Amino acid sequence: MSEFDLIRRHFSAVGSRRTDVSLGVGDDCALLRVPQGQELAVSIDTLVAGVHFLPDCDPEGLGHKALAVGLSDLAAMGAEPAWVTLALTLPDADEGWLRAFSRGFARLAHRHGVALVGGDLTRGPLSVTAQVQGLVPEAAAMRRRGARPGDLICVSGTLGDAGLALRRLGAGESISEYLRDRLERPTPRVELGLALRGAATAMIDLSDGLAADLGHLLAASEVGAEIRLPDLPLSPEIRDRLATDADWDLPLASGDDYELCFCVPEQARARMGTLAERLGIGLRVIGRIRPGKGLRCLLENGSTWEPPRAGYNHFPDAG
Ligand code: ADP
Ligand code: MG
Repeated sequence: MSEFDLIRRHFSAVGSRRTDVSLGVGDDCALLRVPQGQELAVSIDTLVAGVHFLPDCDPEGLGHKALAVGLSDLAAMGAEPAWVTLALTLPDADEGWLRAFSRGFARLAHRHGVALVGGDLTRGPLSVTAQVQGLVPEAAAMRRRGARPGDLICVSGTLGDAGLALRRLGAGESISEYLRDRLERPTPRVELGLALRGAATAMIDLSDGLAADLGHLLAASEVGAEIRLPDLPLSPEIRDRLATDADWDLPLASGDDYELCFCVPEQARARMGTLAERLGIGLRVIGRIRPGKGLRCLLENGSTWEPPRAGYNHFPDAG
């Protein structure tokens, strides 16, 4: 089967049909209409076998995650997902693998009204790159900069689940369905990102771990922060684990959470409760923005926890 047959079969009608796609898969470029008054939000991520996922992982989950990580970036800007392009490098053309990958990708695309409008297919070591495009009204996007002293720091969902899943798999242990889902099928918080337009002063999505990613937000906003570790939202499995080893590195620095971390003024506290209820997700206030620099993590007894390492770094020697 040729490259073009594979594209036609697995990638030609993936995701939602959208009236703003003048031309989708099949020509040299896709043609897309950006409405007046909107900005195009663009983000790209690559997942490499052996670095970001195990080569023998479930292809349907990989299709889901390849799109989910990009949607999480759009969510963090308050952008509404619209289109995606997909570059796949495959060691061989395994029809079953492609069908499952495409199914996982398509299901999530449908859920968020996203159309797959183009891509690339090459042979080589397994890797997946997705570029997402979303729409946000001019000047409405929420950035990493903008947090002000006194703002509350909030996070969605729970932290450290994917990290614990990876550690256990790495140690050859089995994991619960819950942890597997959190690792392989993260839920991008798109509705939350949209709902926070006009409310959040700054926002970031958590891909490298709270300590590193909140650190980026603080640096961009030129402020410091204090968070209370006992207030971190944790699933029962993380709680159990922390009760035995008190290793806060797990929820703070293990990465792959794909939750949102954002700041709101104190007056918005009550609205956060209403919003959490409406969206059916956890929203937790974990601390406060302070003047100055850096992140202080307070333990129950008032002492501070010093994070032993920052988030995952692909180029630790780059200086
Ligand atoms: P070109 O050689 O002009 O770059 P390709 O032969 O790579 O075009 O691709 C042919 C068409 O199929 C293009 O419209 C391209 O966007 C689309 N396409 C290729 N690979 C994928 C993929 N993995 N997913 C979606 N569309 C794809
Ligand atoms: Mg061409």
